Amino acid sequence: MILERMKFSYRITTLSLLFATMIVLYLSWGDDYMMWNRKANASSKIQPGMSLFQSTPLTGDFRAGQCWDWSRRRSANVTYDTHNILHLINDELGVHTNSIRLPPEGQPIPTDKMKPNYKKPPLKIILVPHSHNDPGWHKTVFGYFQDQTKPTLDNMVNKLIKYPNMTFIWAESIFLHMWYQDSSPHTQAQLKKLIKRGQLEIVSGSWIVPDEANPHYFALVDQMIEGHRWLERNLDIKPQNTWSLDPFGYSATHPYLYQRAGYENMVILRVHERVKVHLEEHMSLEFFWRQNWDSESVTDIFTQLMPYMLYNIKHTCGPDHAICLQYDFRNIPGEVSESRSVPITELNVENLSRQLLEQYRKKATLFRHNVLLIPLGDDFRYDRDIEWDQQYTNYEKLFNYINSRKDWNVEARFGTLKDYFAEVRHTLAPFDLPMEKMFPSVSGDFYPYTDQRQEYWAGYFTSRPYDKVMGRELEVWLRAAEILNTLAAAAGGTRYMELQGNMQLLEMSRRSLALFQHHDAITGTARHFVTTDFEQRLTKGLEHAQDIIKSASRCLLNDGVRRQKELVVIDVEEPLSQRMLKPHINKYNVPKGGLRLAIFNPLAHHQDELVTITVASHAVVVRHSGQYLPCQINPIWSGPLQSSSHEYQLVFRIKLAPLAIGMITLLPSYIAARHACKIANISVYNTYEKHIPARSTPFNIVQGGRSGIKLKNEVLELKFSGLSGYLESIKRKSDKKTTLTRIQFLVYKSLGSGAYIFKPEGPASLGLLNRTPLVRVIHGPLLSEVQTIQPAVNHTVRLLHTTGLQARAVHIENIVDVREFDNQELIMRINSSIKNNDEHFYTDLNGFQVMQRKRFKNFPIEANYYPSMTFLYLEDEMSRMSLLSSQSLGASSQGIGSLEVMLDRRLRYDDGRGLGEGVTDNRRTPSRFYLLIEDTGVASSNWTHSNHNHFSLPSLEAHLLTESLRYYPVVISLGFGHSVDVYQPLARPLPCDVTLVNLRSLDIPDKGVVSAALILHRVGYDCLITRQMESEICSINPPDGSIILQAIFNKTINLLSAKECTLSLMYDKSKIDLLKPEILQPMHLYTYRLLLE
Ligand SMILES: [Zn+2]
Repeated sequence: MILERMKFSYRITTLSLLFATMIVLYLSWGDDYMMWNRKANASSKIQPGMSLFQSTPLTGDFRAGQCWDWSRRRSANVTYDTHNILHLINDELGVHTNSIRLPPEGQPIPTDKMKPNYKKPPLKIILVPHSHNDPGWHKTVFGYFQDQTKPTLDNMVNKLIKYPNMTFIWAESIFLHMWYQDSSPHTQAQLKKLIKRGQLEIVSGSWIVPDEANPHYFALVDQMIEGHRWLERNLDIKPQNTWSLDPFGYSATHPYLYQRAGYENMVILRVHERVKVHLEEHMSLEFFWRQNWDSESVTDIFTQLMPYMLYNIKHTCGPDHAICLQYDFRNIPGEVSESRSVPITELNVENLSRQLLEQYRKKATLFRHNVLLIPLGDDFRYDRDIEWDQQYTNYEKLFNYINSRKDWNVEARFGTLKDYFAEVRHTLAPFDLPMEKMFPSVSGDFYPYTDQRQEYWAGYFTSRPYDKVMGRELEVWLRAAEILNTLAAAAGGTRYMELQGNMQLLEMSRRSLALFQHHDAITGTARHFVTTDFEQRLTKGLEHAQDIIKSASRCLLNDGVRRQKELVVIDVEEPLSQRMLKPHINKYNVPKGGLRLAIFNPLAHHQDELVTITVASHAVVVRHSGQYLPCQINPIWSGPLQSSSHEYQLVFRIKLAPLAIGMITLLPSYIAARHACKIANISVYNTYEKHIPARSTPFNIVQGGRSGIKLKNEVLELKFSGLSGYLESIKRKSDKKTTLTRIQFLVYKSLGSGAYIFKPEGPASLGLLNRTPLVRVIHGPLLSEVQTIQPAVNHTVRLLHTTGLQARAVHIENIVDVREFDNQELIMRINSSIKNNDEHFYTDLNGFQVMQRKRFKNFPIEANYYPSMTFLYLEDEMSRMSLLSSQSLGASSQGIGSLEVMLDRRLRYDDGRGLGEGVTDNRRTPSRFYLLIEDTGVASSNWTHSNHNHFSLPSLEAHLLTESLRYYPVVISLGFGHSVDVYQPLARPLPCDVTLVNLRSLDIPDKGVVSAALILHRVGYDCLITRQMESEICSINPPDGSIILQAIFNKTINLLSAKECTLSLMYDKSKIDLLKPEILQPMHLYTYRLLLE
């Protein structure tokens, strides 16, 4: 802690020096004017896009290119870490207990800096008209398009042609696509002309402007590719600048993805008001955003954090709202508006110009140069043609006047983001310094976020969790569809023609997923009927993915010998979350002749997995490759103590090669009685029924004894409370260490929570969850589990009796139903014996990296909530406890040793952020987790990292478990016809630390040649936590992280060529020698364009 503060004050000193230098530069511009002119034509060292194709020499901190080695760690060289700023705020709150200081909006700024100075370079104002178009919020995406967005885009073309000096920027590719496809060739040509002339800039250009707290990086990259490919194909452009003003807080993953995709600059807005003040006070609203794991500064991207609270005109002309409102010239008869503008006339132009310029000058004092970005717009603006005329003609008059006043020394014009950043670089070029030396660097993310009244936007991390689960499922199924479609197209033969329709289905499925990443969709913050529209689109996307999986697997599995015996693929199973809610949704009858199922392993590693399906009979055997598989029959409950007599859960264990499809046959058990699946034993607790009816089921249900409940396998021993049935402790057999892990379900009572905001009344309590639950314990040869049943929470803790990786984790499943709750938010908390006395805990960002968090004591409960997309953990010098999750949720640590996740929230009221509704459309919602206890290396004296770094990494084991939690096997049911017995496309698994992000089909196959994007992620993992990682499923050799692309596929697939590209395929980098090793650096994502046949 002390060290951190010292480091921080050191940084402040360094910054102050830099700051002073900048001020000197700024103030001495007058004297420097000659130098300015002399150097103005000298070529600048700073060229946009310079960092685009840099190599990434990160191996310095990684041992032999593998795990992250703390002993080699060099301290990240950044001016600010956002975590440190939060520390300061926390301390400040401790001193002034009432409130934190507000941003200096409306406050006077010393006027000496505002005096006109002829000698200084002019203040350059770039006014950027824009319109923020949400693809779904109060209206559906289609509703908005019809009512507002289409008119806006129509007007945009007409008015920009009419006013050649006017400019506009546009961010959402989805709307551009909807509009473009219905536009005439003439209008399309005009649009292209406007872009070419630089009057119109497409900013961001992803399919939508994504939320940053909930999406997995898979979906973020996918929607980026979708937008960029659309722009390339239709408009032949590549966006350079991002424009992300509305997401509620910002992830540190996004600057990485944007930099990796080839962007040059970013603009963001909504961050913690006090964090913004801190950066403002140090003239640091523009900075290089750097990854906290990047000691070589190769991930930097230039970023402007816009000052003030919002992006509307009221908040963008300068600090004074009342004055800014006089410069919003939209005036629609009958429309209610805050605007106080009057048309500019010859009589008022001088006064109004002077007043506006004062605001501009005040805003300019927040920046280190003389160029000023002034956005001019709001939500769904410029939909009426008259607004274009009003804004343009009035600003034209103002700017003509301002520019004519040479004594004011100002140049004001319309422009785009590209114009702004080019002007900044141009202005600074004469100083002959690298940009990196003129601006600070920032690492970390911008959570938690509060805009006003200390209300924290932490509710949307969880709001509408059912939809968040559905969105995650679509990712998993779309990825499976992409991979199988690419493989099937490459396998070719006579059948790839059958896949022709798949490209269209893929496109629709991708776009459903992409739309859902929008910052009012995955966030659960749209109106109820709009939410229903998003859900329907997710369902459709999933159906398309299933159809693709069906046709692709038919191609891959067909042995192709005789047409009359061709394989029939009947169906693809529903996603696991749906089967958790409705076990009967895919029920298999096992006929005498047997039933064939194909099991697809979506991982590029070997998989030793338990597969669960529902069958109509308990008397079955499972055969695979001529052998009978170990299997188990569990009950499916029709009542608290009644097991169904016509449906059963069948669990079997299967080992599959990477991306392989293995065939199994289910047969009646009389075929091979001694291999019949074993019937699980069941005992129940907390019930007073003496006789438990077994009816006509094979299960023997007995009353549990008085002693506590235990589950054990080869690795772990779990103890449960005899009273509540909840998990109490985990003992690891290898070192006999016991960690207390008490699971509780609690509720926060809402004081002012809504879809966006989390504002509890006080600490969590039992609420309605105070009843003793019914407990059912299942024991079997493959798995054992404890089920606790309460009205609102069905909770299962499971242990596998296998030898693989999954046996090392405790599996947790919940189905929650909060429809009986009133203004409450449900959490699962785990109180452990881990002594993280510094109160640090760790949450991931977008499944890509980990952020250190600290429970700040002076912050309210909700300000210590963070988004968690795939895992969170805490640790002491002995152990680390990780909770890996299959969906995004709000997460926190509210005490030493304690971790919690919010599972659902039911809220009657709106939280005053524009939605105008509470959230009461809850439904039964599934969630899945792995709980993992790992050794942090007690013998290692290196355990210093969590105290002195804001950087952390999971173990390799945690990575692999997270992957298997996400990418579970896909079950496909087959009809008659010949098929291959096993399909195996890869020659070997990818290295353990390389994740196959996607093998995305790019184009319709041409003469049997298929183009695909191979996206790989080499994860970073911690040397200290990762012990022996020799595994059956993958290898960490070769240790330099190299792969040979040609060696990945087996001989059924011919890799013709490969090119490395930027992340979203915007730019080609180099052609790859297929036989030479490609070095993948830890933490990084790689995209290759492959040609296969
Ligand atoms: Zn928005």
